[in-house]
Amino acid sequence: IMAHYVRVMPHKTFRINPSVCPPYNADFDGDEMNLHALQTEEAEAEARILMDVKNNMISPKFGGPIIGLDLDQISGIYLLTHKDVVMSKEEACQLFADAGIDIDLPDKETFTGKEIFSMLLPKNISIEFKANCCKCDEKGYHECPDDGYVVIKNGVLESGRIDAKAVGAFKGKLLVKLQRICGNDVTKKLIDDYGRLGIAYLMKRGFSIGISDLDLPRDVHKLIRKEIQKAEEESHELIRQYNEGTLKILPGMTMAESLEAQILNTLASSITNVSNIVSENIRRSDIITMFEAGAKGSIINTTQMAAVVGQETVFGKRIMGGYLHRTLPHFAPNDLSPMSHGFVSSGFKDGLTPFELFWNIMNGREGLMDKSLRTRKSGYMQRRLVYALQDLKVHSDGTVRNAHNQIIQFVAGEDMVDPTKSDWGKVEWKNYL
Ligand SMILES: [Zn+2]
Repeated sequence: IMAHYVRVMPHKTFRINPSVCPPYNADFDGDEMNLHALQTEEAEAEARILMDVKNNMISPKFGGPIIGLDLDQISGIYLLTHKDVVMSKEEACQLFADAGIDIDLPDKETFTGKEIFSMLLPKNISIEFKANCCKCDEKGYHECPDDGYVVIKNGVLESGRIDAKAVGAFKGKLLVKLQRICGNDVTKKLIDDYGRLGIAYLMKRGFSIGISDLDLPRDVHKLIRKEIQKAEEESHELIRQYNEGTLKILPGMTMAESLEAQILNTLASSITNVSNIVSENIRRSDIITMFEAGAKGSIINTTQMAAVVGQETVFGKRIMGGYLHRTLPHFAPNDLSPMSHGFVSSGFKDGLTPFELFWNIMNGREGLMDKSLRTRKSGYMQRRLVYALQDLKVHSDGTVRNAHNQIIQFVAGEDMVDPTKSDWGKVEWKNYL
């Protein structure tokens, strides 16, 4: 629950700023919300100080931002800050106008995307971090080939691309830094401006995906089929060992459990290999842009669409239910092969076989049940937990006590750190010297 300022607009539907969608987990597919209009001065003052959106940007849960850019806003900023983006003064002017940003442009012929991004940034911001689009390991990322090492010095973006790791809701390191150094009002304005700038740039550039983005060269398809075949052969070898009684038994498991664990493992690692093949060979398209930027989707989604869906599970296990000793009457009894227990070796683009579709539907039904049952259960659990803990309070001596003045913790949170004033739960005081 947060407090918002009212802006009276035509029509009867209430609207919200897209940047507060992430904390509410809101979208516009039919969502409803409850709105309380405050009745007294005291209530209003309390809401203004304690509940205002801009005073709740850093989550007390994990010390990161809960509001920030989302979806296309991230894709837009990510594309804008690509190192090859250059535009004329007229284009830059039009871009800022489209984003509703009033700014004086310096007297220059051309502007890079990074310069445009930097123009809005306060001059006292300096930060370095690894961007979402960087795939380097811990050592090599300072010279990232994908321009994934962000360096901001005195409010100038010197290198790196701005993506979800910088400005995304729940992830944006730059947002936390901004909030610490410049305060809530500046951060709020920047989230608004960058969001609109991202969208404006996307509108100018164009952004679209299509089926052909998932095309893979013929020899790559062959490579993927070979990989899947290898995994299926390895599974059959495990099944053979199981039937012979020579299968390696894993600690704390029966022979049958060991077989299941090892088959699941074999198939999963082959899907990982396929994912790598796909990411190395797929054409660069806006699908790739989206998951590189951290806006939406992942390489797993892309792999499932372009190449292989993989193992479908029910209750975390291969599909076992159905008929006596088999999943469907079409299979021989006691058939333990991957394809009769929920392994989908086709991709969504090429289409599933009838069996594969059935496994997918079984898994999909479980997901549906999960979503409705678990959200209700966990919602009520949280309500009971909050009720049980509502009288706990941090006292001025740093102890946490309940309503009977009994000490629950001698040091609040056992570390005396207010996550709201931390960097992801840690005290990084050196960053603020
Ligand atoms: Zn990198």
